[in-house]
Amino acid sequence: MRVVTLRCANCGAPLSVRHKVRFVRCNFCDSQLEIHREDSATYSTATQEVREARVAKLQKSVERLQLGNQLEQLDREWLMRQEEFLTSGKRGEKCRASMTGGVISIVLGVSGAGVGLIALLGGVGMCLCISLPVSIVLIANGIHMLATADRYQQALAEYKGRRSDLLALVRVLDQARPE
Ligand SMILES: [Zn+2]
Repeated sequence: MRVVTLRCANCGAPLSVRHKVRFVRCNFCDSQLEIHREDSATYSTATQEVREARVAKLQKSVERLQLGNQLEQLDREWLMRQEEFLTSGKRGEKCRASMTGGVISIVLGVSGAGVGLIALLGGVGMCLCISLPVSIVLIANGIHMLATADRYQQALAEYKGRRSDLLALVRVLDQARPE
């Protein structure tokens, strides 16, 4: 019995095909293949079904790649947005605005004003002159921090929402994949 050796058109694995056999299934990738015999050579081609499956697989990998890119871009944008939510710390260092920080600043500012007022009523007028501007700055800073911290929380929630949407799509694609 004559046996021809050729390569699978889909995965390149060697195939041994018996004489006159027209269709064969690859032992390695399980593709249905059509055997063509010409004067000079015998070769295999993937059947329409296999070709369609390959195109579908390719489309899926393209989609997967696009989703990966979108995720990366989202993360990059989020990293850059962090700048918006920074406030200056005591020594000019940058830190993220927090609700606690804002509340502490307001409490300090209000108590400072209170102390100044008591001092004024007690007849030590100079104390108020010094503490009042500081109190106003502390209160204003606290309000700004609260507002920034609130915007940060909203932006974070939005970012997390978009991210989990993309991840859900990735999961759907990965599950739909045959391998
Ligand atoms: Zn194969």
